[in-house]
Amino acid sequence: MLVLSGGTGTPKLLGGLRQLVPDEDITVVVNTAEDLWVSGNLVCPDIDTVTYLFAGLLDTDKWWGIEGDTYNTHEALASAGHDEVLRLGDRDRGTHIMRSEFIRQGASLTEAVNRTARMLGVGANILPMCDEPVSSMITTDGGKVHYQDFWVGQRGKPGVLGVEYQGAGNTTITDAIRQVVEREDNIIIGPSNPITSIGPILAVKGMRELMGSKHVVAVSPIIGCEPVSGPAGKLMSACGCEVSSKGVMQCYEDLLDVFVLDERDGQGQRDAGDMDVDVDMVVVDTMMTSPEKSAVLAGVVMEQFV
Ligand code: GDP
Repeated sequence: MLVLSGGTGTPKLLGGLRQLVPDEDITVVVNTAEDLWVSGNLVCPDIDTVTYLFAGLLDTDKWWGIEGDTYNTHEALASAGHDEVLRLGDRDRGTHIMRSEFIRQGASLTEAVNRTARMLGVGANILPMCDEPVSSMITTDGGKVHYQDFWVGQRGKPGVLGVEYQGAGNTTITDAIRQVVEREDNIIIGPSNPITSIGPILAVKGMRELMGSKHVVAVSPIIGCEPVSGPAGKLMSACGCEVSSKGVMQCYEDLLDVFVLDERDGQGQRDAGDMDVDVDMVVVDTMMTSPEKSAVLAGVVMEQFV
């Protein structure tokens, strides 16, 4: 099973999928355009969330970091006057140190992520979207900043004028991703932010073409004209997309075969139904407020496979 993921909505769905299939049968291609070097180590927020989910370590109140982690290093640095843009837990930082050491020793990001995941006991195959650095850069009314500076540093407050995937032009599809996509018939696009989580994955050079012949099932992260959480609405508007399930469908364009929307999203159902596209619509409860609800939605998604 192959799933494209960011760091909140899709991991909730992955939590459901892994109740239905063995972890070893799940491959997750994860966004890396929110990655950032912090105090000498590469932080990969979405990869970390997915890794901790499969390692049974994830803090599922926040959907980032390790449950019960402490912040001694971060606080010691801050009190010495060294501020970090991300509040990193101590054990979480241990993961970043390991991964960064592998990279410093010459490993690709794919190898470094794989080795780190194995060391944490992960059975799933977690693949970064590419090995080259890509950054989601947000043009705000105060200037162009990295996604983390916008969302964490400035709490998502500035007005947004545009988003670009810096470095995407230099990417290539990794052998690991090519092999998995070639052997899978179905691809799940989870309910993640279409601009800063799924958009960068699809911007890897050749990715859309590689996925073109596959049966793609996507879950909408938008209900009505609001995302369930996070800055997707502001970012979609800035990119000229309608903030709606219809807007999400337009982001995935010709890739889509099945679109799963929320039963509360009457407008989305009407608009998506009016679109002149050959996409099956499935209307269910997509709010994953418990592991049980995640498993039910995961089951519905798997029923759409060919
Ligand atoms: P990020 O990397 O932290 O931005 O996380 P993602 O991009 O993976 O997920 C953010 C998106 O998940 C937001 O657009 C939310 O609307 C969506 N989301 C979060 N929880 C749920 C849920 O329970 N159901 C649905 N349908 N979408 C969700």
